[in-house]
Order: sequence, then C-alpha cells, then structure tokens
Amino acid sequence: MSARHRVVIIGAGFGGLNAAKHLKNADVDVTLVSRTTHHLFQPLLYQVATGILSEGEIAPATRVVLKKVKNTQVLLGDVEKIDLEKKVVTSRLLTRITETPFDSLIIAAGADQSYFGNDQFAEFAPGMKTVDDALELRGRILGAFEQAELSNDPEERARLLTFVVVGAGPTGVELAGQISEMSDETLKGTFRNIDPTQAKVVLLDAAPAVLPPMGPKLGKKAADRLTKMGVDIQLNAMVVDVDYDGLVVKDKDGTTRRIESQCKVWSAGVSASPLGKQLAEQSGVELDRAGRVKVGADLALPDHPNVFVIGDMALVPGVPGMAQGAIQGAKYATAAIKASLQGADPADRKPFEYWDKGSMATISRFDAVAQIPIPKTDKKIEFSGFFAWLAWLFLHLIYMVGFRNRMATTFNWLFAFSTRNRGQLTVTEQQVYARTALDTLHELESQRELDAPSSAAPSTDAAGSAAPQADPTPQPDSAPQPDQAEAS
Ligand SMILES: Cc1cc2nc3c(=O)[nH]c(=O)nc-3n(C[C@H](O)[C@H](O)[C@H](O)COP(=O)(O)OP(=O)(O)OC[C@H]3O[C@@H](n4cnc5c(N)ncnc54)[C@H](O)[C@@H]3O)c2cc1C
Repeated sequence: MSARHRVVIIGAGFGGLNAAKHLKNADVDVTLVSRTTHHLFQPLLYQVATGILSEGEIAPATRVVLKKVKNTQVLLGDVEKIDLEKKVVTSRLLTRITETPFDSLIIAAGADQSYFGNDQFAEFAPGMKTVDDALELRGRILGAFEQAELSNDPEERARLLTFVVVGAGPTGVELAGQISEMSDETLKGTFRNIDPTQAKVVLLDAAPAVLPPMGPKLGKKAADRLTKMGVDIQLNAMVVDVDYDGLVVKDKDGTTRRIESQCKVWSAGVSASPLGKQLAEQSGVELDRAGRVKVGADLALPDHPNVFVIGDMALVPGVPGMAQGAIQGAKYATAAIKASLQGADPADRKPFEYWDKGSMATISRFDAVAQIPIPKTDKKIEFSGFFAWLAWLFLHLIYMVGFRNRMATTFNWLFAFSTRNRGQLTVTEQQVYARTALDTLHELESQRELDAPSSAAPSTDAAGSAAPQADPTPQPDSAPQPDQAEAS
C-alpha cells in the first residue's frame, strides 16, 4: 500500500488534466481515471465536424501529455461508483472492474448534452461533446450532400440540403457559420447534379437572441453576419419533436410547424455528469436542475474537505461552464490539497475566486465576436470582426495542449483560410453508423440477459477478443500502483 497521500482525479478534460499537472512536484501519488484515452479540446470540436482539423490535433493522448508527470498514473475506465465513506472510486473497462482508493479526490467529469427530458431526440439530432460526436456529424453533413447528388426528387433534395442547428449559443453559431462556409466555398463546384451553395442552414433557438451570454450588441453582430452568409436564424422557436426526416418547432404564438431536414445537430443545453447524483445521495450536497453540484466556497463537498468538484460539474456562483472555470478550479483544488499536506486547516481556506478572462465565438473566416472584462470594474470591452478573429485564433493556440498539435493546427488553419479548402473531409461508414450499431448491440445484450439471466456470457478482454469466463460477475481489481521507485 502506498505510504504517500493518494489523490484520485476523475476526468482528463480541462479540469482533470490541469489538476494532474499542478500536482507534478507534490509529495503525492496521483491516479487519473478517465473514460477516454485522450484529453479533448472541446472548443475546436466543430472544426473537426466541418473538416478543418483532424481529431488527433484536438485530442492528444492523455498518457503522452502526462508522460513527464511521474507521480501520475493514467487509468482508462468509466467511473461507475464513488464511495465517500470507504474513500474508493470504482471504474469499469469492458468487464474489468477496478477499485482505486483515495485520500483526496478531484471530480472533473464534465457535462453531457441535455435534451431537456427528450433524450429520444439524440438519435436524430446528435450533440457535439465528444470526438465520436464530431466525426459522426462530419459523416452526416457530407453524407447528406452525397445523397442529394443521387436524388432527382426536388422535395427529397431540399430535405437533404437543409441543415438545422438547434441552439444559438457559441457552438451553434460556430457550427452554422462553418456548415454555410463549407457548402458555399469548399464544396462549390465539386458535385455535378446539385449545387452545394443552394444548401440551407437554419439556426434555431427557443430564446429570443443569438449568443445570449455575450449581450445584445455582440449577439446582433453575430446574427447580422450569419444572415449575410445566408443562415436562416429562427428565434423564439422551441423544438418539440425530432425524427429522421425533420423536426417540429413551436413558435412563440403557440403554433407548430415542421422543418424537413435530414441532418440536425443539437447544441442546446448541458447536463452535468450523473456522478453528481451519487455525491448528493452520500453527502447531502444539493444539485441544480442541470445536475451540477452546489459545492462550498472552497469547491469541496460539505463534511468532505478533501473531495473537490470542479469544472462543468460544479455550480459556483459567477463561474460559467467554460474552460477557464475548470482550469482555475484545478489550480485552486490542488493548492488546497498541498496546503492540507503542510498542516493547513481546511476551515481557513480562502474562497475560490474566478478570474473572468472573457469569451469569444467565431462566426466565419476572418470574423468573430469577443468580450473581455476590464479588471476591477464591471465593464467589458466588446469587439468584433477581423481583430476579434485574430484574438480568437491566438488564444485557442495558446490553450491547446502540445507543441506538435499547435503547429499542425496552425498549418491546417493557414491552408483552410487561404485556400478555402479543408483537408479533413474523410468519412467512414463506421463513423456514421457505429453509434446506432452500438445502441442496437446494447439493446440485444440487455434482451439476452433478460431472456437468460443465469447463463454465463462470454467476456471481452481489453484487447477486444472474446474470452471464456466461468463467473460472469466482474471482480474488482485494486488499481495497480505506480512504480514506487519512479514516483518518489
Ligand atoms: C462544442 C463545445 C465548444 C466549447 N467551446 C468553448 C469555448 O470556446 N471556450 C470555453 O471556454 N469553453 C468552451 N466549451 C466548454 C468547455 O469545453 C468546458 O467548460 C470544459 O471542457 C469543462 O472542463 P471539465 O474538465 O469540467 O470537463 P471536460 O473537459 O468535459 O472533461 C470531462 C472529462 O471527464 C471524463 N469523464 C466523464 N465522465 C466520466 C466517468 N464516469 N468516468 C471517467 N471519466 C469520465 C471525460 O471523458 C473527460 O475526460 C465548449 C464546450 C463544447 C462541448
């Protein structure tokens, strides 16, 4: 058993990865458990979906990023259980169950897409939260153009060439702008039976404004620019149903109407990781409607001063669900853990203070909107156009992880912005259909378990091969400990 203080981090996003980096020189053993092998730079997912960047550029392997952080061990696994009393995190990789004990815990499991109780919409209007989502969306966008090329039915063609983005926040605005640019510029002249520039992009939102968090002035700038690009913005329009061929929208006056569209994307609303519910049940901490954990001023759970919830999972007044919230939360939580090791009393912790560094959204090539607070005042500088776009470009490069990724991204941007071409338009059948196939597989598996509850099912090992198994109940492993000599 490790003699050193054990810190477990859940998640390899902005919060988790930064927490591990901040603990690099601390006298602790760190285990980072995450359900993906990569750290994902979510702000550029839409560029993967629209063929500007490849997934590798925005999602480097976590264990490679943390190679030199010798006191951190990276474990792949989906955390299924957090036991606050026993101080153990239980994760699963296929049928393998791993238990990782902790002295301090940092939970940074982020958020998923929220369909506001209509999860069935996800089948026809996927969200944009993961690399899989972005690649599937790329396939859906390009697949719609391919099918339209083969169709001679004007109605079907119109449906295939209508792209609907639900949610006019930064992601929706960026996606709508990019789908529009892709059809007007990159795909122009590449088909013989259809004119891709005739594609229609609809941006829908139940709210009355575009980019509400950035205020009316920048929202209007973004809306005007998108309208000029041909994007059809429909506000006060609530989506009430989604199916394979389109969606039903309810307008402010209560009337409903249908939009025929094969390719729909959902970028409205988030719901925090369901792990929050376990924390609420065990510690009595409250959750908000989005499932975010109402942590204390020190980002910790009540009566659990060494269990921190940071990033998109945490509800902290004045802290938005943005990368900076998670990055700064990681810095604060790790400093608190280090102070505790030096004997500091958790009761004396200064409250977490968020430094708002502003927000930005790109609309098109050479055009963005930006809002930057003036320190120590409640005023904000707002600007738009080319300089906002340059600032956006620069800041995203700074926050990307890894020199190689920054270089590759810069090169791809130079190529895309100067030639209007995109180098990542490859789509594979598996990218488009794998999710549906997996859902069907899971349904079949559940059905099989219901039909034969006592029969032993073959398990799949980490390498993906089927292995005979005497006892189908997964047995917990304790987490393998990092090499003590190396870690010390
Ligand atoms: C499309 C998009 C665009 C965005 N654009 C911007 C932007 O321009 N600027 C900005 O500041 N913010 C932006 N954001 C928000 C920003 O990405 C998030 O606020 C930030 O990622 C939150 O960091 P986090 O560490 O809390 O969660 P995440 O970065 O989401 O990381 C969560 C981690 O937890 C892992 N995980 C989840 N559940 C489990 C589990 N049960 N077991 C194990 N691991 C688990 C995930 O695999 C992931 O590694 C954007 C988000 C999206 C989706």
